[in-house]
Amino acid sequence: MRISVIGCGYLGAVHAACMAELGHDVVGLDVDETKVALLAQGRPSFHEPGFPELLARHVGTRRLRFTTDPTEIRDAEIHFIGVGTPQLQGRLGADMTYVRQAVATIVEHAAPPAEGRPVLVAGKSTVPVGTAEEIAEALASSGKNLMLAWNPEFLREGYAVADTLHPDRLVYGLPEDLERGAVAKEILDECYARPLATGTPLVVANYPTAELVKVAANSFLATKISFINAMAELCDATGGDVTRLAEAIGYDDRIGSKFLQAGIGFGGGCLPKDIRAFMARAGELGVDEALTFLREVDAINLRRRDHAVTLAEEAVGGRLAGRKVAVLGITFKPDTDDLRDSPALDIAGRLWSRGAELAVVDPAAGDLLRRRQPELNVHDSIEDAIRDAHVVMVLTQWKEFVELDPAALVALPATPNVVDGRNVLDPRRWSNAGWRYFGMGRGVSV
Ligand code: NAD
Repeated sequence: MRISVIGCGYLGAVHAACMAELGHDVVGLDVDETKVALLAQGRPSFHEPGFPELLARHVGTRRLRFTTDPTEIRDAEIHFIGVGTPQLQGRLGADMTYVRQAVATIVEHAAPPAEGRPVLVAGKSTVPVGTAEEIAEALASSGKNLMLAWNPEFLREGYAVADTLHPDRLVYGLPEDLERGAVAKEILDECYARPLATGTPLVVANYPTAELVKVAANSFLATKISFINAMAELCDATGGDVTRLAEAIGYDDRIGSKFLQAGIGFGGGCLPKDIRAFMARAGELGVDEALTFLREVDAINLRRRDHAVTLAEEAVGGRLAGRKVAVLGITFKPDTDDLRDSPALDIAGRLWSRGAELAVVDPAAGDLLRRRQPELNVHDSIEDAIRDAHVVMVLTQWKEFVELDPAALVALPATPNVVDGRNVLDPRRWSNAGWRYFGMGRGVSV
């Protein structure tokens, strides 16, 4: 099929490359010239495992192209919308400017046949419920033979390629009209023929359900993380160990063991802004009481950052000013360079504003951080960052940090304090090697 993807960020660029991998002829459109220039040469504009290979392969065969010229989308049979929906400045709601612009671009430049099978617009961005209905009306009033489906995206950064090629489910939000719904489904089925053939579960729903599935899933995940972080607060108050607690409750398969890792909390370009936009939308719909629990989820999450700063202060004996803090990991999770709403970055910034001298290492986001916040002192080697530090903080669970040998490093810092912001280090091993270990919800420090 001929496909266009509007918006080539973490979601759109991977989606475009994966659609090419599925055999389609794809054009990715973005307004960011620098990003497009890189992608068009087959060079990734962000860190994502497996993406560079796909990109190089399909840009090389011209099955995948990137452009800033909207006229190049005219022949597509499906236009995917993958533009950003960030949090509005100073408000909880989502900024829908980019989605509106993307729809306007499609309406202006798509060239569907006047009769016969319509061209499909498929929304992938995460949007407030009700958006699809509005877009469907805009498409209907365009006078062009365009039809809308809502097809939310569940990929995880760090696993984005596998999640797109082998999704754990596909969700289609289709027009209520049965005949039109069947046509939209036929087009999406053709697009996703390969994952469907290998048994990917498909959930077909109406527009609002499809929009809600995405924010409901993210709200559930955020709630699970904040739940275990609330238990971490209780463990700290009582001498319990939240890692053992999580293990024990996780054996109950009604609860499950995933997403029960206490630490400095969730971040990134999705979970925080999605739960906030969901609350804002519930307010507009007059059902804000249904989601008041998400306020608590957000508050618990943000308290984790305060707690990490407090632990750093405790480790250095109270005053951070003039103390050196080594921060290992600055992205919101491993295997990405995404710094959006990263708890690690927020914590590093707070430590710096209290007068601490920072030394940051990150396997993927070092160069990006060096350009954006040179005051945080990015280092290329873990040893250089740790040397003469008063406290070392592991804030992202990159494999490189999880596998550190505490005995080999203990002579480097000025004082061997380690704050394990992700509960990924073995407290006994680190304390036996001579470190003072501070965990998140593991009772007293060892
Ligand atoms: P992003 O900021 O990385 O990418 C958005 C891209 O859209 C940018 O490159 C921007 O230049 C481009 N853009 C903005 N306006 C445009 C326009 N009018 N025409 C063409 N391009 C335009 O954001 P992202 O992380 O890729 O997220 C995109 C959407 O997908 C969001 O709604 C997000 O919530 C959702 N989502 C993201 C993920 C993820 O893991 N990143 C997962 C699922 C869903």
